[in-house]
Amino acid sequence: MRYADLHTHTFHSDGTRSPREVIDLASSHGIEIIAISDHDNLAAYFEIKGYADEAGATLIPAAELSAEHQGIDIHVLAYAVDPLDDRLNERLAKFREDRLTRGHRMCERLLAAGYPISTERVLELCGGGAMGRPHVARALIEAGHVSSMKEAFDQLLRPGRPGFVAKPRFAIGEVVELVHSAGGLTSVAHPSLYPEHRRLVTEVLDLGVDGIEVFHPEVDPESRRFYTALASDRGLMITGGSDDHGTAKTTETLGTVKVEEKHVRPILDRM
Ligand code: AMP
Ligand code: FE
Ligand code: FE
Ligand code: ZN
Repeated sequence: MRYADLHTHTFHSDGTRSPREVIDLASSHGIEIIAISDHDNLAAYFEIKGYADEAGATLIPAAELSAEHQGIDIHVLAYAVDPLDDRLNERLAKFREDRLTRGHRMCERLLAAGYPISTERVLELCGGGAMGRPHVARALIEAGHVSSMKEAFDQLLRPGRPGFVAKPRFAIGEVVELVHSAGGLTSVAHPSLYPEHRRLVTEVLDLGVDGIEVFHPEVDPESRRFYTALASDRGLMITGGSDDHGTAKTTETLGTVKVEEKHVRPILDRM
């Protein structure tokens, strides 16, 4: 039986690993089916597909997309999309551009609030990928304004804090339509991490999302049981992954979630 990790990040978004390191580390944990799901970015797929083929790993084209439902940020994972789909790529490129503009505004707001950081340093940490709050957080740590990622988010980068700037997001129906039209499937990421999540996730599923990420380091056993039953009731797929960001999060999680191949069937059948 083969195992999968369907949720990983690289330095093409807010992770710290290279795509090659993700493939190698996953392989060392006995994981042979891998989705690199960078925020708003498919670059890792193009970079590492040839290497994954040589290594005998199955690489699934994927991305984690930010959508909005009733003002709440809902992360939707896209799987088995055509990586060359024009409409999808144009939309992702626009989101990455918006993320850059937002990064600059966050630096300005932090400066005005008395937490100066170098915009050049944030750009450097981002390295041309999809910029996110973690890049700003790392610059804040380096500048000595906070001592951890958690402190950076809690004090400065969460909604309502001085450094927060909202970013444009998909509507749920829109992301579902776009991913489907690119030949892919969607899954709601880390379902238990949203406020009033049982109601919220149920509504999100009503809008056409195809699956639920029940295996995730931050999804507790009770929620996992609840969402597995919900998926079963509705005939939806269940997905899972480590959501590894390398050292950009407090814990490195690659290898801690191993999803049985049978759950990945609907995705593999699309490829
Ligand atoms: P953004 O897409 O720019 O709004 O940033 C969201 C990203 O920040 C998520 O994908 C996580 O990787 C990261 N993140 C969110 N909250 C925290 C936190 N409290 N500590 C560390 N990283 C976080
Ligand atoms: Fe992230
Ligand atoms: Fe997420
Ligand atoms: Zn993620």
